[in-house]
Amino acid sequence: METTAPHDVIGRVEKGLLVAGQWRPAAGDPKFAVEDPATGQTLCEVADASPVDAAAALDAAHAAQSAWARVPPHRRGQILRRAHDLLLARKEEFALLITLEMGKSLAESRAEVQYGADYLRWFGEEAVRIDGTWKVSEDGTARVLVTRQPVGPCLLITPWNAPLAMPARKIGPAVAAGCTMIVKPAPQTPLTTAALAGVLTDAGLPDGVLNVLPTTRAAAVTEPLIQDRRLRKLSFTGSTPVGRLLLAQAAGTVLRTSMELGGNAPFVICEDADLDAAVDGAMTAKLRNIGEACIAANRFLVHADIADEFTDKLAARMDTLTLGAGTDSACDLGPLIDQRQRRRVASLVNETVAAGARVRTGAVLPDGPGYFYPPTVLTDVPAGARITREEIFGPVAAIQTFTTEDEALHAANDTEFGLVSYLYTRDLNRALRMTEQLETGMVGLNRGYVSDPSAPFGGMKQSGIGREGGNTGIDEYLEQKYIAIDMTPPAHTSGAREDRARPERSQ
Ligand code: NAD
Repeated sequence: METTAPHDVIGRVEKGLLVAGQWRPAAGDPKFAVEDPATGQTLCEVADASPVDAAAALDAAHAAQSAWARVPPHRRGQILRRAHDLLLARKEEFALLITLEMGKSLAESRAEVQYGADYLRWFGEEAVRIDGTWKVSEDGTARVLVTRQPVGPCLLITPWNAPLAMPARKIGPAVAAGCTMIVKPAPQTPLTTAALAGVLTDAGLPDGVLNVLPTTRAAAVTEPLIQDRRLRKLSFTGSTPVGRLLLAQAAGTVLRTSMELGGNAPFVICEDADLDAAVDGAMTAKLRNIGEACIAANRFLVHADIADEFTDKLAARMDTLTLGAGTDSACDLGPLIDQRQRRRVASLVNETVAAGARVRTGAVLPDGPGYFYPPTVLTDVPAGARITREEIFGPVAAIQTFTTEDEALHAANDTEFGLVSYLYTRDLNRALRMTEQLETGMVGLNRGYVSDPSAPFGGMKQSGIGREGGNTGIDEYLEQKYIAIDMTPPAHTSGAREDRARPERSQ
C-alpha cells in the first residue's frame, strides 16, 4: 500500500500541464505556489499555463475528438467505472491531498472522494444508455429519427471548494458522452485535479481526451478558447459574477453553456418542525465544507415561537467544535481557503453586528497561522443586511425570524439566487405547498443535504443554467440530431400520391 504521509502524497502528484497525454511544463516554465490554508505555507509549485499552452490543449482535444466519439459506449463506461475503482482504492491518499490544499477535515475529504467517485460510476453506467427516438411524422410521409451525439470539445472550469467532486461531475458525463475536454482547475487547488486526471489516464482514457491547464491567468487562458470555433461547450462551476462574464464571452460564438453558480440558500424552520432534526440539518447545511459550499445554508429563517430554542441548541452544538488543521483528526473545522476569504467573512460579520445583530457565539478571530474563522451564530440580523444578500462562504449562521408562511416564502425567495432551499416542517400539506413555491432548483425537505449523483443538481434564477448528475446530466454533453427520412412511395407504386410535391412548411 502506498504511504499517505503528506510529503509523499504531494511528491507523487504531477505538477505540470496535461496536454495530448503528456505531462509537461508551461511554455517558458512559469510556476505558481499552492498553499496549505491551515499554515499559509507553500505545499509545492505547479506549472502556470499561458494562452500558448491553452491553444496546444485545444489542438489536442480537437484532434482526439472524432476517434474518441467512435469508441464504443461500453468501453467509455468501462474506463469511468475503472477510474471509480482506482480512486476508491486510493481514497486515503486523495482525501489527504484535498485536505492539504483545500483545508477541510479528512472525514469531509473522504466523503468528497466517495461523492466524486460516485459520479464517475454513475456516468459510467449512463454511457450505454444514450438513446434516440424513431417515429412516424404526423402526416405519414416521413420518419423522424432523432439521434444524440457528443457535442464536441469542452472547456470545464472548476472552483476550489470541492476540487475532486466538481471536476468529476463534469468529466464523468463528458467522457460518457464521447466528448474531449480541457479542464481548468482553480489555482488554489490544482493538485487534486491533476491526481484525478492521473487516475483517468491509468483507467485507459486515450491521449488528448482529457487535458488539464492549471493557471493563475484564468481569463487570459480561457477567453481565446471560448472564442475558438473548435470549442463546442463551456461548463462552468463558480461564482455568479464570473458566470455572467463567461456567458457574455460565450455569446460571441453562441457556445453551449452549463452554469453551476453561486447560492444564497434559505433554511426555513416552521413552528411544527422536529427541532432536533432541524438542528442536525442546520449543522450539516451550514458547516459542510467549513461553510464554503454553494449549497451552504446562508439565511436561517426561523418561526418566532421557536427561534430562541433553535438558537440555543445551534449555538451549543457549534460551541462543541474544535478549530484546527484538517489533517488533525481531533479537529472538526478546518481553515477557510485563504486570507482574502477570511477577511471577507470577518467584514460581513462585523458589518452585520454594527447594523444591530447580536453575536450569540463565535466572531472572534483565533491567533496563530492559517485562515481559521470560528463557528459563529448571529441573531437579530436586520432585514436586507449584506450578509443576507451575499454568499457568506464561511461557518456563520445568520438568524432571522418570521411569523407567517407567506412572510417566510417571501423572504426565502427575495434573492437573485435560486440554487437550493431547506425546509423543516412536519405538516405534509404545508411541505408540498411551500416546496412548490420555493424558487430554487433543489429543496432539502427535512434534510440538510441534497447532493446525490442520481439527482439533477443545479439552480434556477442566477444560480445557473442546466443540471449535473441524474438522468439528464449527460444531456448537457450531447447534441440532438434529427434525420428526416422521406417515406413517400415512388410515383409508380400503387397508393402513390398523385401530387408528391408537398407544400413547404414554415421553418
Ligand atoms: P470563482 O468564480 O472565483 O472561480 C471559479 C473558477 O473560475 C476558478 O477556476 C477560477 O480560476 C475561474 N475564473 C475566475 N475568473 C475567471 C475569468 N475571468 N475567466 C475564466 N475563469 C475564471 O469561484 P470560486 O471562488 O473558485 O468558487 C466559489 C464559487 O463557486 C461560489 O460562488 C460557489 O457558490 C460556487 N459554486 C457553485 C457550485 C454549483 O454547483 N452551483 C458548486 C461549487 C461552487
